[in-house]
Amino acid sequence: MNKRGHVLNALLLAIGLGFVLEPGVDVATAEKIGQITVPVVLGALFPDVDTAFGRHRKTLHSLPVLGVFLAYPMVFDNLHFVWVGVLTHYILDLAGSRRGIALFHPISDTEFSLPFGVTTSSKYAGLVTVIITVLEVAAFWVVSTYVVSLDVDLSAASAGFGI
Ligand SMILES: [Zn+2]
Repeated sequence: MNKRGHVLNALLLAIGLGFVLEPGVDVATAEKIGQITVPVVLGALFPDVDTAFGRHRKTLHSLPVLGVFLAYPMVFDNLHFVWVGVLTHYILDLAGSRRGIALFHPISDTEFSLPFGVTTSSKYAGLVTVIITVLEVAAFWVVSTYVVSLDVDLSAASAGFGI
């Protein structure tokens, strides 16, 4: 998937997740969307940094890298929601290209991809991106509702940039 697809996916996903985490149409929902949009978009842009540093679709397209972004909120209480962007980038690359990504790099350089999906150049790429995003929002809702809270309480946020 290209940058445009990743950003479109991240923006739609952040809006969808805002409604999952703060159901309704009010200030809290808008605040939630504001809280998560930039981190999710940044996360979605991050893996393709390996086009310049490392080997593309390997160095920053692996489960250990996703693990680092999952660990940051828990260990350092920062970079919340960036993992969502990284994860959705992987999902789009898995579905949206024939080549796939090296999920187990650096242990293995084997590249995985889904047997279905469309290439970036396909006229259906935009539609597939939207469908994937809807499925992701649904999956996030299921996990958030029945497995573990994926929210970060805004009332816990302190003013003053942590100083
Ligand atoms: Zn990528």
